[in-house]
Amino acid sequence: MPDYDLQAALDTDYYAVFEGIPGTDRAAWERAREFVEEALPVMNGHWDRAEYPVHLVKRMGELNLLADGIEVPGLEPMSPLAAGLVNMEVSRGDGSLGTVVAVQGGLALRSIAFHGSPEQKDRWLGPLARGEELGSFALTEPDHGSDSVSLETTARRDGGEWVLDGEKKWIGNGASGGVTVVWARDEDGNVRGFLVEQDTPGYRAEVIEGKGSLRAIHQARIRLEGVRIPEANVLPGARRFKDTSRVLVATRLGVAWSALGHATAAYEAALAYAQQRVQFGQRLAKFQLVQDRLSQMLAELTSMQLHCVHLAGLDAEGRMRPTQASMAKYHNTRKARFIASTARDLLGGNGILLENHVIRHMMDIESIHTYEGTESVQALLIGRDVTGVGAFV
Ligand SMILES: Cc1cc2nc3c(=O)[nH]c(=O)nc-3n(C[C@H](O)[C@H](O)[C@H](O)COP(=O)(O)OP(=O)(O)OC[C@H]3O[C@@H](n4cnc5c(N)ncnc54)[C@H](O)[C@@H]3O)c2cc1C
Repeated sequence: MPDYDLQAALDTDYYAVFEGIPGTDRAAWERAREFVEEALPVMNGHWDRAEYPVHLVKRMGELNLLADGIEVPGLEPMSPLAAGLVNMEVSRGDGSLGTVVAVQGGLALRSIAFHGSPEQKDRWLGPLARGEELGSFALTEPDHGSDSVSLETTARRDGGEWVLDGEKKWIGNGASGGVTVVWARDEDGNVRGFLVEQDTPGYRAEVIEGKGSLRAIHQARIRLEGVRIPEANVLPGARRFKDTSRVLVATRLGVAWSALGHATAAYEAALAYAQQRVQFGQRLAKFQLVQDRLSQMLAELTSMQLHCVHLAGLDAEGRMRPTQASMAKYHNTRKARFIASTARDLLGGNGILLENHVIRHMMDIESIHTYEGTESVQALLIGRDVTGVGAFV
């Protein structure tokens, strides 16, 4: 048993940002809370052993937590706010599970929903949303991360088939036995999307080992060697890199919500610890410097909440611009890092123990700070928007 009880959700909402949430959106949040309460007790162990609890993906599917706001026949639709709250709550529990939502729903499912044929949608949307199949999204390559627009994986036609060759890196669910949306360059130089079932000959994936972050989900390094797929597996709506970007832009706000979830967990653990831990004969909460640090964390957390809820509203009205989502990600992963490291410090030595949760969140934030466009890439996107001058190269 841990020495301190830091796990309970405190529902921090200093500005009553979440007070007016409609009932259906709140219901999605409550389903996510139910899931987190089930899953959290086992996540430190999975993280420690670097094991991916795949059975929990199915459970998230049963609770309709994976669709990330995409309409899937047979499932109750989720507003952008509901999808955000789910991202937040699952990440408040655990970042690896939050990343499952981002990869399975945010990227794989969304790619097929945006760009797939009716047959592809019939085949994949339901099974991915219900967690019966695992989905992944393979854009990044060993030599192309921030400049993924320069990807080198090739796709050439051969009779009625396509042949894929190349390498991918960091692909969540890429070695888990499901379907991978592979982004590759055709003979005309256009980036297109291809559905590759992972048991297709020539698809070789290895789990990346030795990660110090998101240890309870597997990312893969993939080699594609003469992978043959039928024309029916080409996403008809993805014909240019801007079609790939459309998927990424839609998931960027989800990462901002995830950062909010991590930061909420870290702040609430720090507050609970300050009330339980006694030094110099007083609870830490009694010391002025501790109160100042809690105030700093709360102020940043509240600003993160405002970014998320406001943009969910613009998104619902179809008015959110891509660089506004960039700004939310830029702001929120940066603030989440601050909050987690402050919380870690406030817990002293206990802050590095997994049993107190903060160190897991602190390490996991490092990944979400990087994926879906690093902080610097978001800054370049915002900078180009406000100055009219691109500064990428
Ligand atoms: C845990 C994890 C999960 C991931 N999951 C997936 C996935 O499922 N699918 C997928 O396709 N990808 C995935 N990624 C890849 C992720 O999107 C990339 O890591 C990210 O885009 C950054 O690329 P990079 O790591 O190659 O860093 P690089 O692009 O090499 O960047 C290194 C540093 O240089 C900076 N930099 C780069 N260009 C510029 C510039 N023009 N100006 C100033 N600074 C610059 C960056 O900001 C960064 O700080 C994942 C990554 C991680 C860590």
